[in-house]
Amino acid sequence: MATIEPEPPFSKSKSMELPRSVVIGHDAIQQVGEVAARLKVGRRALVVADPTTMKIAGETVAQKLAEHKIRVEEYLIPDSSLSAVREAEAIIRKVDVDVALGVGGGRSIDVAKCASFNAGAHFISVPTAASHDGVVSSRASITGDAGEKLSLAAQTPVAVIMDTKIIAESPFRLLAAGCGDIVSNLTAVRDWVLARNLRNEYHSSYAAALSEMAAKLVLENAPNIKPRLEESAWFVCKALVSAGVAMSIAGSSRPASGSEHKFSHALDRIAKKPALHGEQVGVGTIMMMYLHNGDWEAIRNALLAIGTPTTARALGVTDEELIEALVHAHEINKERYTILGDEGLTYEAAERLARITKVI
Ligand SMILES: [Zn+2]
Repeated sequence: MATIEPEPPFSKSKSMELPRSVVIGHDAIQQVGEVAARLKVGRRALVVADPTTMKIAGETVAQKLAEHKIRVEEYLIPDSSLSAVREAEAIIRKVDVDVALGVGGGRSIDVAKCASFNAGAHFISVPTAASHDGVVSSRASITGDAGEKLSLAAQTPVAVIMDTKIIAESPFRLLAAGCGDIVSNLTAVRDWVLARNLRNEYHSSYAAALSEMAAKLVLENAPNIKPRLEESAWFVCKALVSAGVAMSIAGSSRPASGSEHKFSHALDRIAKKPALHGEQVGVGTIMMMYLHNGDWEAIRNALLAIGTPTTARALGVTDEELIEALVHAHEINKERYTILGDEGLTYEAAERLARITKVI
């Protein structure tokens, strides 16, 4: 007689870190003091910015915090290096800072995110441009001591303040690059399904759906994304927040980073003059969507409509550099399984892929 095994007890568990407050819109920056006070993040703050973003937004942030009786220190970053992180961290520890605010395009945010995490302080993200999804995520891109690019695990911001007036006034190239980073979710979620099916990797259909939805919204509204139009900034900011929340739910960058990101990171290493992150992943998405047998032309058309690069020439890299990046892309972050597999593309296949998708 066959014995019936008892069902194993339920043992699933999961945790997610989400921002507690997200403010997007016209003059949102005016609310930073109120938000910090409401969230009770403490009485001492460190505003991290570069000389430009300190003028554009950092000074207003400091003033608004002061109005809510929060004492403010300022740190002007020289760059987004590990030494800048260590300097910011030293200030946080020395004056017992409760919350660090990263005010800038990406570098100030990355430095503030890492330093506050290392020193055990809260972190608030105040982007002045919307060029990539790092403004909402828990990861930070930092330059290592030997000049290498590092992607470090840090912390999710307790609050995100996105002022669409400020973001609409930033160079349009940055906003367009942000669209490229959002569109890349389309191939990232396909890579994720592949990893679940072939490697039994953890997959969250909720995180994937949210991430994909953000990308589809950008695809559909591509013709309406225009320079100096605050509504465009509003739209891109909302999509970046969705992508960030998707990553928080997944507990990793999986829903927003797949083979197209590997290509971009390889290009960063190979090209003499790499382009912006979002521009490179946009081009990567066109090519990886072809490999996934999806509608790569729809992605190319959307990027063309927005005005973000779709070719090696527009990225400012050579055809040779681009092909080499395709050939070496699978070597980046090897444990993340994607359509590139463990072997990657042959040189001939990479060249064919770039030609067929009109990238070279
Ligand atoms: Zn990205």
